[in-house]
Amino acid sequence: MIALRCSGGCDVAPSDHDALSCAQCGDLLAFELRADAFGAQAVDENARLRRASLDPKDRSGVWRFRELLPPVAEDAITTLREGDVPLIDAPRGAAYAGVAQLAYLHLGVNPTASFKDAGMTVAISHARERGARVAVCASTGNTAASMAAYAARAGLTAVVIAPVDGISAAKVAQTLDYGAHVVAVEGDFDDALRAVRALDPATVAVVNSVNPYRIEGQKTAAFVLLEQRRWAAPDWVVLPGGNLGNASALGKGFREAHAIGLTTSAPRLAVVQASGAAPFARAWRDGGDLVPVRAETDATAIRIGAPASWKKARAEVRASGGTVLDVADGEIAEARAVIGRDGVGCEPASAASLAGLRRLVADGSIKPDADVVCVLTGHVLKDTAYAARYHASDAAHANAIVRGVDLADYLNLLLLTHA
Ligand SMILES: *Cc1c(COP(=O)(O)O)cnc(C)c1O
Ligand SMILES: [Zn+2]
Repeated sequence: MIALRCSGGCDVAPSDHDALSCAQCGDLLAFELRADAFGAQAVDENARLRRASLDPKDRSGVWRFRELLPPVAEDAITTLREGDVPLIDAPRGAAYAGVAQLAYLHLGVNPTASFKDAGMTVAISHARERGARVAVCASTGNTAASMAAYAARAGLTAVVIAPVDGISAAKVAQTLDYGAHVVAVEGDFDDALRAVRALDPATVAVVNSVNPYRIEGQKTAAFVLLEQRRWAAPDWVVLPGGNLGNASALGKGFREAHAIGLTTSAPRLAVVQASGAAPFARAWRDGGDLVPVRAETDATAIRIGAPASWKKARAEVRASGGTVLDVADGEIAEARAVIGRDGVGCEPASAASLAGLRRLVADGSIKPDADVVCVLTGHVLKDTAYAARYHASDAAHANAIVRGVDLADYLNLLLLTHA
């Protein structure tokens, strides 16, 4: 019902459960689901019953859809109740972008505060079932923290290859807390990922998003979004793109939900990159192959110049009738502050979604009456230094600390202006 295949379309079924790429053409592997083997009503009914259960794997937003995932033995399932995240109404974000209907799917509300947990729970559970003892990833932050937490739960040794150029202090601190070995190496994220992909997946579990089990876990974010809308798809889903595993995963999730009959349509996908790390946006505009760049942006989670999953992501964006664009760091900063005014905190990379939506409405690609969901990928507490810098600046939505006033006068003034 679900089988591993070459994502490039080669006709040979890969025999090795832990291979990451096709032996014939080198493209990434991907699971393929036979939609006609599933009944929409049964999937929905299972999910509904499991949401009311007290079993942690039932409450997980990932494992409550376990029939749609590659099979993992129940006793290997390693869960922290990930994936069960809210879809939050976003009136201020909607006004800012110029659309009638907007909600945030907040994947930062996960156990380690980023969407990486939804994929990691599947990758680590599979590694545990296969008897792996060491899990490895290249990461500047969120993948590392997530792998470290799940490896700790599963009793695996976690090794993070961290590029010296891009280490985020808060995320490394979190990773060290979970007991991972953090090894700093020369170069940037792309160099670190190359080193990890050269390792033998038979000896260590490589859990970057080139691992197809990660993608399967992450696709459930599409199901969690849709179930909160009674399986009515929005017109557009907008999300940031770095290595492009998540765009691939969400596209796959919506496509499968539609094929199974859970929804009557699939949303269009808009993938938003930061202008200093936008090789996918350029390839989309040019219609050619991806040309890697040296990536530079303050949105560290999407500071990636050679995205590994660009072909998968392009296929999903095309199939959805969507688009790819890039936005400047300043637009990301402003959009992030606006999201905050909805009472929702996200890290910079996440806000590329709202910044991208604003652009797409301005240029007419998305109509003002569209029903849109922006995916927030990480939590505001992942990068408080960025938020503090923003609010100390003279940016449009900066909210500086008030100093040197008389408190009574100040409160009186507030009461007058907010009457
Ligand atoms: C990993 C990450 C991204 C990028 O996701 P990709 O799958 O690499 O495209 C975006 N935002 C946050 C917060 C992340 O942790
Ligand atoms: Zn192939």
